[in-house]
Amino acid sequence: MNDMDWVSQFAVSLDELISKVTTVVALRYVIFAGLAWFLGYVVMKRRWIHRKIIERMPTMTDMRRELLYSISSILIFGLVGTLTILVALRGSTLMYWDVGQYGWPWFFASIGIAIFLHDTYFYWTHRLMHHRRLFRWMHRVHHLSTNPSPWAAYAFGPLEAVVQAGIFPLAVCLLPMHPLAFGLFMVWQITFNVAGHTGYEFHPRWLMETPLRYILNTPTNHVMHHEKMSGNYGIYFNIWDRLMGTNHATYEDRFRQVTSRPKSGHELGAERKSKQESDTKAEPMTSHSEAVRELSIEEY
Ligand SMILES: [Zn+2]
Ligand SMILES: [Zn+2]
Repeated sequence: MNDMDWVSQFAVSLDELISKVTTVVALRYVIFAGLAWFLGYVVMKRRWIHRKIIERMPTMTDMRRELLYSISSILIFGLVGTLTILVALRGSTLMYWDVGQYGWPWFFASIGIAIFLHDTYFYWTHRLMHHRRLFRWMHRVHHLSTNPSPWAAYAFGPLEAVVQAGIFPLAVCLLPMHPLAFGLFMVWQITFNVAGHTGYEFHPRWLMETPLRYILNTPTNHVMHHEKMSGNYGIYFNIWDRLMGTNHATYEDRFRQVTSRPKSGHELGAERKSKQESDTKAEPMTSHSEAVRELSIEEY
């Protein structure tokens, strides 16, 4: 199938292309974040609570804000995605449309390379956005969530959403990628992104006792990033954080502590619920936002 066949099957006009690309991005977010929320915050909450990294649950206010910012990011991702497809159709990227052109081994290799490329892109742009001159304008919105829920996966301010969307044009300009390979890479992206924000540690306890700890990132790592506002900048892998010495000193201990809790004795009791209510009252939105901004500046 050539490029025009691909696109003409998908959309016949620019409006239709924009709306369909945006719908695909939105469905991806709603399905994955919705499933994680349904499991972690409704049906499995009591069974999984011993693995909740921060034991109290995010508030409804937090989740509503995360959802609204994610909708804004989805619109930006839809526009950047459409523009990239249009540029690709002019032959100005390395995107190709016939699997036979590079064969199946490259099809799968391109997904793996794109994942490593994105991990590097994410780590360095993330660290840059923590610079005190950029944080307020680019990354503060994401850090309004100090105890994230799965809905925080795309909770970015508009400028950060543009930076995050940058991986799409970057990947297809650097790598020959088939649209389906890019789609599979995006499934990997949303799976890890949502898992990192759901708030539960799902990796086995033994992970931290093996060399795998140097490679794989964990939800504990990213939740600590939200909690402490700096350090632990990686997404899929822990390689850059290890190389650059940016893991929190207590990261491994925190992982061991979370994964060692007994199942019993970690139920959402009345005491915890009342603590959550008092925490909510003590942290109104405005003072919380101020705290995020000040912390980021002090800790940089
Ligand atoms: Zn950050
Ligand atoms: Zn995050």
